[in-house]
Amino acid sequence: MNATGAINALDVYKDLPKLNCKKCGMLCMPFGVELLKGAKQLEDCPPLLEPKYKPNLEKLRALLAPMKQATATGIVLNQDACDGCGVCVIACPVNSRFSQECLSGKAPDHPLPKEIIYALENGKCKIVSIEECRRYTPPTTNCRICEIYCPRYAIEIKV
Ligand code: SF4
Ligand code: SF4
Ligand code: SF4
Repeated sequence: MNATGAINALDVYKDLPKLNCKKCGMLCMPFGVELLKGAKQLEDCPPLLEPKYKPNLEKLRALLAPMKQATATGIVLNQDACDGCGVCVIACPVNSRFSQECLSGKAPDHPLPKEIIYALENGKCKIVSIEECRRYTPPTTNCRICEIYCPRYAIEIKV
């Protein structure tokens, strides 16, 4: 994981069986890259489904879950463009649902509720979790509130 919290191919590779058996159609490292791109699934690696690799499979599922959610919602947060104004933190209806402070127009108190989507850290917006995003959790909607209200165009929804 890099300084921004993004996962990279090496993070994925660490927990693959590393057999280079090519049962997935390639070597382990490129398979890790394909997983990150969403072009391959964990289930495409047959050894990973064997009982002895169960802990690895669980770790990889947990590691890749946020990425799958991000792909499903299409939300891309550009932290370089963000000036930390906090508009998205109070505008997102999920934040208000899980944080009394957001409902009153303030930043959520720490410890942050694990369900909230946006929070500020060191003057920048970060995504805590997007599991409850209205674009992700059924019944889904085409919510774009965060994108519409961000004054810096730092949030883009690519679908
Ligand atoms: S099937 Fe799994 S163990 Fe074999 S090369 Fe592909 S990723 Fe590696
Ligand atoms: S799309 Fe809607 S629910 Fe999802 S993060 Fe943006 S404002 Fe929140
Ligand atoms: S509304 Fe935009 S600029 Fe403001 S904190 Fe959120 S992402 Fe950053």
